[in-house]
Amino acid sequence: MLEFNMTIGGQQVPTKETFDVINPATGELVAQCPNAIAEDLDAAVAAAKEAFPAWSSLPDPERKAICASLAGKLEEEAENIAQTLTKEQGKPLGGLGSRFEMGGAQAWAGHTASLSLPVKVLQDDDQALIELHRKPIGVVGSITPWNWPVMIAIWHIVPALRAGNTVVIKPSHFTPLSTLQAVQAMNEMLPPGVLNVVSSDGKLANIGAAMSAHPDINKIVFTGSCGTGEKIMQSAAKTMKRLTLEMGGNDAGIVLPDCDPKEIAEGLFWGAFINSGQTCACMKRLYVHDSIHDEVCEELVNFAKTIPMGNGLDEANILGPINNQLQFDTVSRLVADGAKHGKVLLGGEPGEGLFFPITIISDLPADAPLIVEEQFGPALPVIRYTDLEDAITAANNSDNGLGGSVWSKDKEKAKGIANRMECGTVWINGHGGIQPNAPFGGVKKSSLGVEFGEEGLLENTNIQVVFS
Ligand code: NAD
Repeated sequence: MLEFNMTIGGQQVPTKETFDVINPATGELVAQCPNAIAEDLDAAVAAAKEAFPAWSSLPDPERKAICASLAGKLEEEAENIAQTLTKEQGKPLGGLGSRFEMGGAQAWAGHTASLSLPVKVLQDDDQALIELHRKPIGVVGSITPWNWPVMIAIWHIVPALRAGNTVVIKPSHFTPLSTLQAVQAMNEMLPPGVLNVVSSDGKLANIGAAMSAHPDINKIVFTGSCGTGEKIMQSAAKTMKRLTLEMGGNDAGIVLPDCDPKEIAEGLFWGAFINSGQTCACMKRLYVHDSIHDEVCEELVNFAKTIPMGNGLDEANILGPINNQLQFDTVSRLVADGAKHGKVLLGGEPGEGLFFPITIISDLPADAPLIVEEQFGPALPVIRYTDLEDAITAANNSDNGLGGSVWSKDKEKAKGIANRMECGTVWINGHGGIQPNAPFGGVKKSSLGVEFGEEGLLENTNIQVVFS
């Protein structure tokens, strides 16, 4: 069995206590993971604080080059990390699974490394020279979820480092191993203390909560549920930490009557079921015009039947299990209620272990929990509408506002509807595609701030204005 350590101050650090990381596809032990105590977090934060002055004052081209080398390191280690990722997360190696996630991690690292933070001249005349400088914030604490653990870690780490900050990351206890591996690999390219990782299942110390309140952490970047985001915001208040919070979504898709059901079925499917639906910006509610509702359902079900689900280490499988029991129970509860009040077109019953078959349910009442709550699993409610205004109102009737989509042959009409959707990203004839050069974040309770691109990089800086 592979051994995994935390990385603190450039050193591999084991702990006295460990916790088990379980393969959700088999229930087998993947590895024992270091379980941090509060002193381990303090040591990691102290190492990051000590490394900050030298890292933040490196000439920019040098820091840029080191950040760019992280993408190469991730590429070198991609297959090793992908194997670990599949074992602990459950997603398949192929398709839109672990290897795809490692490719994304490299792409984001490479693009982010290439960005710059030039000084902006606000005024240059007889009166004054006024310059706006972007300065690093200090020690950034990163807290990540279990659905895309490596890619999200890179979304947090590389912009923070590129802007001159140092980092302490804490991965989810369901999927810590791939992050431990990635951080160890990236440390080969970085000065000691610039990037540190602590892992914990929360039993010896609530490391996430301790990070949010830590006096020597200057910013938290968090991806996870809305409930945890709220807690972080509260405990960060005392130290007035900078925050970037990326949280839950309940994305709606709206299909207009001019669509060809067969043509859009594959796009709709992947928009909803990538990573077995365990993706923040998955389509979680699908509104379809009455005139093509039944046909769209039929084509979706036909396509879904062609997708094999199983152990991700078997290259034949394209979807994997739900990652953990807690999430499995949430999906089971929402689907059980949906089966009582709607029409189950596919799936509907829990499978073996943590496998939940692809489930599609239509004809639910508008207040069905499967429509109102974030399912974060392989279950999609399809909702019939006759009046487009009602569909737009229903789509916007959510506390969340991460993404949304409009499906139509008439792109201009679709863009007009996109403009009325209350969410951070709208896709036309697709759902969930993201890129390192396009800012990503939501409105309402889904996000505070954005990630990716220049706008995401700027979130890792403080402004200093110099008058001379
Ligand atoms: P979660 O909130 O349960 O956990 C996320 C992280 O927070 C974990 O590392 C966890 O250990 C840590 N944590 C738990 N309690 C904490 C506390 N009190 N203080 C600080 N940290 C704490 O979320 P999850 O179940 O791992 O992830 C699923 C959720 O993440 C879904 O709601 C999904 O929509 C969301 N998500 C959002 C995005 C996005 O970009 N908006 C991306 C991926 C996932």
